[in-house]
Amino acid sequence: MSSEDSRLADGEAPWIDSHCHLDMLPGWGKGEGDGVGPDDATCASEIDDLVARARAAGVGRMIAASCRPDEVPGLLHLLDRVPVLWSAFGLHPHEARDWGPQVEDLLLRALAHPKAVAVGECGLDYHYDHSPRDLQQVAFAAQLRLATRLDKPVVIHTRLAEEDTLRILDEVGVPPRGGVLHCFTGTLAMAQAAVARGLHVSFSGIATFPKAADLREVAAWVPLDRILVETDAPFLAPPPYRGKRNEPAWVVRVLEVLAEVRGMSMRDLGLAAARNTERLYRIA
Ligand SMILES: [Zn+2]
Ligand SMILES: [Zn+2]
Repeated sequence: MSSEDSRLADGEAPWIDSHCHLDMLPGWGKGEGDGVGPDDATCASEIDDLVARARAAGVGRMIAASCRPDEVPGLLHLLDRVPVLWSAFGLHPHEARDWGPQVEDLLLRALAHPKAVAVGECGLDYHYDHSPRDLQQVAFAAQLRLATRLDKPVVIHTRLAEEDTLRILDEVGVPPRGGVLHCFTGTLAMAQAAVARGLHVSFSGIATFPKAADLREVAAWVPLDRILVETDAPFLAPPPYRGKRNEPAWVVRVLEVLAEVRGMSMRDLGLAAARNTERLYRIA
């Protein structure tokens, strides 16, 4: 890949970070209002700076994901404040023990926002097992049904739980609007099973880690109309930023590395991933 073919014109910012988290920004939770949102002035200037840095790197749009009920008011606030931000709302498998009518009600209200584009993240995480597996499965199945009911795509987090993830998807049904396996770290067989079910596959900075050769092979296989890229910021900063707080601007590193393994220009991959994100989430 030459740097030539990826150079952006002044002000051009076509790339999209399809999955990040913003609740770790300094100042979040220190606001006067409900006490959980980014009302604080520090947070407001942090988010503006973060958006400006992303834009300077060519990343003009971003999709945030929520994991916990206490993030919801803050994210709704940001959706109104930041034009280039959209969001998914869901209950992370780590928090699945909290699933119930109250949480579902909160998500329903959040998902009524015009910039709420998906249900999630939800799914199964058998690596950490922060919630019992049976409750993770209940919350995942319920959120798949919610996505179908609301005619939205679903953002799926799955870790060391491929078999149960596919079983539940088949039992409950993939929402008609589809979805994405986000921050994919699974096997080629899992990526193939996801694509066969109409799902997208999204790669994060993990795919850029030196030891992730197998994952890069999976990324090279995923059909061009099904691939997404993300940072999952503030986690998983790609080299050379390891150890720092990750942010949407650095999705460029993911694009660079994946373009190389796919033997295409970063520009072509970035535009394809952006088109896929626009289509999946119906964002302009
Ligand atoms: Zn996740
Ligand atoms: Zn995430």
